[in-house]
Amino acid sequence: MSLSINNDYQHQALSGKKIDLPVGKVVCVGRNYLMHVQELNNAVPQKPILFMKPSTSLIYLRQNIDIPKGLGQCHNELEIAVLLAKPLKCASPDEVEQAIWGYGLGLDLTLRDVQSELKRDGHPWERAKAFDGSCPMSPFVEKSAVNNHNELRFALTVNGQQRQEGNSQDMLFSINTLLSEISKSFSLLAGDIVLTGTPKGVAQLCPNDVLELSFHDFFTLSTKVN
Ligand code: ZN
Repeated sequence: MSLSINNDYQHQALSGKKIDLPVGKVVCVGRNYLMHVQELNNAVPQKPILFMKPSTSLIYLRQNIDIPKGLGQCHNELEIAVLLAKPLKCASPDEVEQAIWGYGLGLDLTLRDVQSELKRDGHPWERAKAFDGSCPMSPFVEKSAVNNHNELRFALTVNGQQRQEGNSQDMLFSINTLLSEISKSFSLLAGDIVLTGTPKGVAQLCPNDVLELSFHDFFTLSTKVN
């Protein structure tokens, strides 16, 4: 048994300062960009598809990525992350913005072969998506620096080749709608993160891959697969 749980993760601002909020759950949204829905031959959802990653999934994006061994392909899913500064419960779309601290980028690392088996059997996805380190997270840009969260560009290159490119304007469910919908199902707390879904371009990550993530005009960061 190993007790070396890697958990020095804290939310960080772009300045490098620690954000004074607890590390909570990560609520994820499936199938929120049409072209990604189509690339995996899934049905277009009528309501947001929700699942969660635990706090132990969070690591700093600047750390190298460890892919679990012997469990098949691990895919990149680059997503806009929303950090909450205040709780939300049964909030309307108009009420959610006051609770947002800011925005970053997260990777929803996914064991795709494991997930395909789970989907086939109608089982929950956590074994494919909630492993330790499955959510590398960037620093966060403060809300006041973001003009319009419905027009945020983001992109991922792997070994210098562009693999994913997205814009929040293409979300099937907007950030405000997502936060409202989630808060009607269960409470969001200060320090929770919402991952807002991946655009198309999910594919296998391999040892020594170098990933470069860029977020609008805010930052470009890189990380590497061990
Ligand atoms: Zn995802």
